[in-house]
Amino acid sequence: MIKVDCHTHTNHSHDGHVSVADMAKLAREQGLHYLCTTDHCDYDLVYGGCRAPFRWGDTDVESYWQDWKNVKQALDGDKTNTLTLGFGIEAAYADGDVVAEKYQELISKYPFDTVINSVHCAGGKDMYFKSAFLFKSKKKAYGLYLDTIRRSLDVPYQYDVVAHIGYLTHGAPYRDKALRYVEFADKIDGILKRIIELDKALEVNFHHEMNPKRDIIERYYELGGRKISYGSDAHRGDICKEFESVSNMLKEIGFTEYVYYVKHEPHYVPIGD
Ligand SMILES: [Zn+2]
Ligand SMILES: [Zn+2]
Repeated sequence: MIKVDCHTHTNHSHDGHVSVADMAKLAREQGLHYLCTTDHCDYDLVYGGCRAPFRWGDTDVESYWQDWKNVKQALDGDKTNTLTLGFGIEAAYADGDVVAEKYQELISKYPFDTVINSVHCAGGKDMYFKSAFLFKSKKKAYGLYLDTIRRSLDVPYQYDVVAHIGYLTHGAPYRDKALRYVEFADKIDGILKRIIELDKALEVNFHHEMNPKRDIIERYYELGGRKISYGSDAHRGDICKEFESVSNMLKEIGFTEYVYYVKHEPHYVPIGD
């Protein structure tokens, strides 16, 4: 089984715990073909006026890049190495020109392999936390979140992967938290069709639990979506978690390959053995 992991965090992220060197070591030990580190860029909070219950530091991309380069050089100098290490960021979306310009500037400055476009905040609040759901019905909160994702797809800066659709279920206070295709079919179709039109990849993310859920992934396939990316969203070196079960599910649906990116160019590996 060829393993790839396109969404992971190192200790350059405020909530990451493992160095780039140790991430690469873990990936080599587990025989990964490709690992991309994608540390947080929270310009939604820094420039977008969005709020989270805690104020954490944003990634220092220059020191992340220098550190990553050293690890990459060491890998390139080792003839036994078979791991391709990618340099990436997770760019958290917020509405507005200022955030878009700042991302544009950053993304043109560094030779990123993968830029992950993610939505954490909707209506100005980080949907990871319960406080974002105060006085909102499920229909309203989830609708707001999905509308934000739809807008995020049309940003002017370059990105490759659309992250973790369903991220908000973690903190949602409802008895039935699931983001179901049938409940939000129109909005989800709008998102999936646009991802396909723009030729971006839909991510299957495994932070805490799998997002999006199978019904949404099946609908993506049904609509013609074939670019599918795996991301553990590891923050503690827990790379490629549930990789086998995710791969089996994707094969059942009909997918035959994973996409991963090198300098924003898509590369493919077969799913499964
Ligand atoms: Zn995220
Ligand atoms: Zn992440």
